[in-house]
Amino acid sequence: MKAGIHPDYVECKIICSSCGSEVETHATTSEMRVDLCSQCHPFYTGKKRIVDRAGRVDKFNQRRAAANKPAKEEKTEA
Ligand SMILES: [Zn+2]
Repeated sequence: MKAGIHPDYVECKIICSSCGSEVETHATTSEMRVDLCSQCHPFYTGKKRIVDRAGRVDKFNQRRAAANKPAKEEKTEA
């Protein structure tokens, strides 16, 4: 290896932001954060779960509820 051009190879902890599980490995950085991991991703758990961290599903349901409300009295101009 050529001296002075390679990054340090250190112990690294990978932390899942969703379920909090940790994996220890080695990398050039000491900590990584991931949104999903194999402990909590629906593909691996086999459980149907909506992965929604930004509240988008709730916003969508609110918009649908608003759209399904009966329209207010329509003004009839005659
Ligand atoms: Zn996870």
